[in-house]
Amino acid sequence: MIKYSLICAENHRFDSWFASADAFETLKNAGMVGCAVCGSTKVEKAIMAPSVRTHESRSEQEPAAPEPERPLSAPASPAEQALKELRRKIEANSDYVGTEFAREARAIHEGESPRRSIHGEANAKDAKQLIEDGIPVVPLPFAARRKEN
Ligand SMILES: [Zn+2]
Repeated sequence: MIKYSLICAENHRFDSWFASADAFETLKNAGMVGCAVCGSTKVEKAIMAPSVRTHESRSEQEPAAPEPERPLSAPASPAEQALKELRRKIEANSDYVGTEFAREARAIHEGESPRRSIHGEANAKDAKQLIEDGIPVVPLPFAARRKEN
């Protein structure tokens, strides 16, 4: 493992661990080394004063268990972007019914409310009851939030 002090185009300084000097170059060239502060991928190694360290002083200064190979300051991952997109689609294509979710899901299932997609909040007990009654509900991987109109 190797620790680099890095600096971005906006002069933010941060430290990051890499498997090797080659791994740093590879990640940097792939645009996967992002500034910890602003996410910029215009990142260079900061120029540091050379220092000579003995074996003992090194063990004091370096953390015992550095993070493994993943860059510590990557911008939004593909998974995060997919989640954001999913959320956008759900919010655009389904009605937000808030805490009325359980009641409304049941009403739609029983034909008392117009058939449509809805999202909202339900407590664990209500959600379990809906599933037991064969009403299709899925937990969303994010907190539902009212759209701002
Ligand atoms: Zn920055």
